[in-house]
Amino acid sequence: MPPALNSSIVPDTALVCFCPSAIHGIGGFAKADIAAGTRVIKYVGEKITKAESLRRCESANEYIFSLDDTHDLDGNVTWNPARFLNHSCDPNCETEPDGGRIWIVARCGIRAGEEITFNYGYDLEDYREHPCRCGASDCIGYIVAEELFEHVRKQHALAEEA
Ligand SMILES: [Zn+2]
Repeated sequence: MPPALNSSIVPDTALVCFCPSAIHGIGGFAKADIAAGTRVIKYVGEKITKAESLRRCESANEYIFSLDDTHDLDGNVTWNPARFLNHSCDPNCETEPDGGRIWIVARCGIRAGEEITFNYGYDLEDYREHPCRCGASDCIGYIVAEELFEHVRKQHALAEEA
């Protein structure tokens, strides 16, 4: 039996349905072809202060986004189906902050049935505890922000030489 998560638990949005994913757990999939630049799904949640955010991050909440200098968004809430979207090293979407929420926007054309992914933008803290299984041909092996790829590649090149 597959895990008991189905569309009655994670309802479809206009462009995305939620099904078991080869990357991890449940993922979001395009219901139709989506053009580059389209706002695919809203990433919503609870608006919290930076102090509260720090507290929640320490208890391993992995769904927190930075909104502005004073507040963050905690997407770990039942009304945020976008929390099921998986990370990829070669994602087809990116995040776009818009006031108190975040949009997941197509960075290229997406085919119906393709999994919707974006880069979670994690920093290097404990990155080895977040292995990536996105399946991209140039997968970096860990869930980290794109600007850190080069750093992680170098680290692992050094480790292999040693
Ligand atoms: Zn990857």
